[in-house]
Amino acid sequence: MILFKKITELTAFMDQQKQKGQSIGFVPTMGALHNGHISLIINPKKHDTITVSSIFVNPTQFNEAKDFEKYPVTLEKDIDLLEKNGCDVLFLPTVIEIYPDGLSNQPYYNLGYLETVLEGKYRPGHFQGVCQVVHRLLSIVQPHYLYLGQKDYQQCMVIKKLINLTELKTAVVIGNTLRESDGLAMSSRNMRLNEQERKKAVKIAETLFFIKKEIKPGYVGDLKERAQQYLLAENFKVDYVEIATADTLTIIENWDGKQPIVALVAAYLNEIRLIDNMLLN
Ligand code: AMP
Repeated sequence: MILFKKITELTAFMDQQKQKGQSIGFVPTMGALHNGHISLIINPKKHDTITVSSIFVNPTQFNEAKDFEKYPVTLEKDIDLLEKNGCDVLFLPTVIEIYPDGLSNQPYYNLGYLETVLEGKYRPGHFQGVCQVVHRLLSIVQPHYLYLGQKDYQQCMVIKKLINLTELKTAVVIGNTLRESDGLAMSSRNMRLNEQERKKAVKIAETLFFIKKEIKPGYVGDLKERAQQYLLAENFKVDYVEIATADTLTIIENWDGKQPIVALVAAYLNEIRLIDNMLLN
């Protein structure tokens, strides 16, 4: 694996590869890697594509300073994992390399409805930060394929919208959410959970499995309420338990039994905010 810290050196290498006719797959991450990330790395390998990954904890997407300060960093382990799993290139930029003009004065992206619900509503400015960094990274790497995880369902939709808005020529490939053996969605933030919190964290996935099992055509408001009560009873601070259309994320109260829908949860265990989602049909 070749490690680049400078954009100029990375782009020179990428240009050479593209001239050779190589197809490029890109997996952006914030590090503290786990098998969910690695499943995205392995995907392009199957298609004879050069795999580029990045590790960059993007300051502009954190709406809480504490969350940014406490974001786990495990760089040596990450490099080892990437190398062992066949990643070809790692881009490891500094903040100045990504934002040479500073963190303010960034472009604004008109994300419309997507920025007003769920993560958009509870994390103001978060998706602007996501778009700023992903736009910048895509402009640098110019990959043919961008690999994202369904774990961040709304983020996948936002990034697809970004690609439309900016007319970038990258195809998005979405990988399934990898889970721990008890069902908890893998997440870098899980590293911050203490033993007791880790045991409890699985209740989020259980809530989603419960909704999937219980959902029936008709009014779904009471099911959302029961699911939320389950988490509240376990002392979670719940931002939302919602059911929405899978294609547009329109929140629904009634379901016709046919439309593809997704359940989404965001909840805090003490200071740590966890999210998860599940397609229901
Ligand atoms: P992050 O490092 O959290 O920014 O995540 C980098 C990429 O990995 C994003 O596209 C995430 O959606 C994806 N990802 C995170 N957790 C998982 C998981 N459990 N399974 C699959 N992909 C994941």
